[in-house]
Amino acid sequence: MPQIRIWNDNTVPYKELFGDDQINILPGKFIDMEADDGIRFLGTYNQPKFDGMGNPTTESLKMLRKEIIEPLFDDGTMMPKHDGDLKCTVCGKVCVDQEHLDGHINANHLDAMADKNEQAKRLKGKRR
Ligand SMILES: [Zn+2]
Repeated sequence: MPQIRIWNDNTVPYKELFGDDQINILPGKFIDMEADDGIRFLGTYNQPKFDGMGNPTTESLKMLRKEIIEPLFDDGTMMPKHDGDLKCTVCGKVCVDQEHLDGHINANHLDAMADKNEQAKRLKGKRR
């Protein structure tokens, strides 16, 4: 499973309870996460805290950035085109776009497809 590196660009440690894991990233440091988890983690929203002037406090800001440290995809593509959950429902592989997902399913899971009409259509398409 590919990993991504998540950097804390803030000047204070970043802490968040993510699922069952207490995440703690020191300022200017990073942790490595499974790509799926990392992308979800970056997407979680923290309610910022405000100081007396109505500005969000430094401590409450989620100043994280990701660095891809392994290609996410077999073809060497480094980044998903979007951070949404475009995942194969059979094996959980993260796909770069719908076309990529379709190609992956056609190549790996046609026999597992529940919709037999769609399966036949795709098998036909494959022979062409
Ligand atoms: Zn799959």
